[in-house]
Amino acid sequence: MRKGRLFVISASSGTGKTTLAHELLKEDKNLVASVSCTTRPPRPKEQNGKDYYFVSKEEFTNIKKKKGFLEWANVFGRYYGTPKKQVEKHTRRGRDVLLLIDVQGAKKVKKTKPDAVFIFLVPPSKEELKRRLRKRGTESKQEINKRFHVATRELKELNDLKLCDYRIVNRYIPTAREVLKSIIRAERLQVST
Ligand code: 5GP
Repeated sequence: MRKGRLFVISASSGTGKTTLAHELLKEDKNLVASVSCTTRPPRPKEQNGKDYYFVSKEEFTNIKKKKGFLEWANVFGRYYGTPKKQVEKHTRRGRDVLLLIDVQGAKKVKKTKPDAVFIFLVPPSKEELKRRLRKRGTESKQEINKRFHVATRELKELNDLKLCDYRIVNRYIPTAREVLKSIIRAERLQVST
């Protein structure tokens, strides 16, 4: 049986990756999202085990000590990590796995899983990014500013990195979704995998 592949979608907060991923997952039954562990509190409507596994700092540290994460990162002062076992289980069963992680995490995955497909989603402009962060309305003004500064730094860093295989400008979600679907389709057709 063909082993599943890893698709790493990285984007800064507010770029629209969650919306895009949800739409894609609904349509593509061979694609499954990896559910990360995080120490940040749930937002309204977020469900434990579906959006994230919401864990305490102690639980997170324990998993980390046991080398249970494929990668982990401290994002905005909270910890986020990709559970290794879950990813391995899916790929063993031939399912492709989508990781929605930040740039630091993608860098780590590149080292351990260089054959993963790295896709970066970027906002059309800095102004649009700020507008989207504000519109979401789930963070305080201070938190929005923090996310905006980190995003600006990451975008700059991305231009210098030879990390990404594909770059998608998320101007209009339906278009970005079609581009993403084409990338996944093409990667699945590669004879070497
Ligand atoms: P949020 O708190 O807005 O859900 O996520 C904040 C950032 O953490 C986003 O850029 C998101 O992609 C990233 N993130 C979510 N899960 C993981 C993970 O498991 N590992 C890493 N490195 N980043 C993650």
